[in-house]
Amino acid sequence: MNCLQNSAVEHAPALTDSFNRRISYLRLSVTDRCNLRCVYCMPAEGVALMDHAAILSYEEMLRIARVAAGAGITKIRITGGEPLVRKGIADLVAELNHLAGIADISITTNGILLEAAAGALRRAGLRRINISLDTLDPVKYKQITRGGDLAAVLAGIHAARMEGFSPIKVNVVVMRGINDAEITSFAALTMERPVHIRFIEFMPINGHAGLDKSVYISNADIREKIQTIGELLPLPIEPGAGPARLYQLRGAQGKLGFISPLSNHFCATCNRLRLTADGRLRTCLFSDTETDLRLPLRSGCSDADLLGLMARAIFTKPFRHAVLEPSFQKCSRGMSAIGG
Ligand code: SAM
Ligand code: SF4
Repeated sequence: MNCLQNSAVEHAPALTDSFNRRISYLRLSVTDRCNLRCVYCMPAEGVALMDHAAILSYEEMLRIARVAAGAGITKIRITGGEPLVRKGIADLVAELNHLAGIADISITTNGILLEAAAGALRRAGLRRINISLDTLDPVKYKQITRGGDLAAVLAGIHAARMEGFSPIKVNVVVMRGINDAEITSFAALTMERPVHIRFIEFMPINGHAGLDKSVYISNADIREKIQTIGELLPLPIEPGAGPARLYQLRGAQGKLGFISPLSNHFCATCNRLRLTADGRLRTCLFSDTETDLRLPLRSGCSDADLLGLMARAIFTKPFRHAVLEPSFQKCSRGMSAIGG
């Protein structure tokens, strides 16, 4: 049987790791290419790119997603590199939307190409978008992203709002001495708009890309700064809401999320699985242990074989990341080749 045919995985077991964590969320990196060079993600010269032939086709990604959905994956986030630089993303969204078991599809983008893409993504069935934006100052934006145009991102956010995406979530990686002076300006945006601002701690995943780790600032420190402009009220933890701890400034329309992979890691409840654009499963963002699905996929494996590979990989998911251990050096892949 051709490996890409639609054979059913009957009675597939749920994907559960050896610590009894149910794996239900797949981060699907569709490309390692990016139109920016953010200082916390990539070195200035960029990173070695995968051969085009190494990158999974959409058909291959869909097959993996279908098998995973049959075993309990319910949420898929499309990421990259920059997902919108790959042609046909809206078609991929539409196909993912047809998969039985997938209840939630979202995308993380830098927003540069969003203005043109928002309508097609919406029509394809996408409901949720996260936009990475670390400064509201056009000059600083150019510096942080090494050349990006803030106006393009703002136009993308506007287009997404016009298309009805709600809530729009903005991801801010906070770096001491670079954009920490803007923490309160970002937080203040939630007073007038129903936008969600999510502060993400800088992660020293790849030898800090080009940054010194002294730029790290904890979410506790970020909250302290926000409390200077208003009362920060904790919101109840919503089931399935992910790793962000949610707060709201009193009287605000939007919410504030704090994602603290280092200072308050959420490994004990981690339900994530990552698929890189070249077909490797990673069960932990910070662990280089990967399982190759591409070779079996291209060699004619069955759906049951694929599921077996996924289940075995998941069974070895580490209990927690080791990024704060003295022995941790860096990951073999940068963030843009994993998908964040
Ligand atoms: N290009 C898209 C974007 O920037 O939204 C998607 C891929 S990017 C690798 C996914 C997320 O990882 C982004 O929100 C980005 O800010 C975050 N990220 C990248 N490097 C990081 C780092 N060193 N520490 C914390 N977050 C990082
Ligand atoms: Fe590109 Fe996203 Fe990495 Fe920035 S964070 S360089 S936009 S992949």
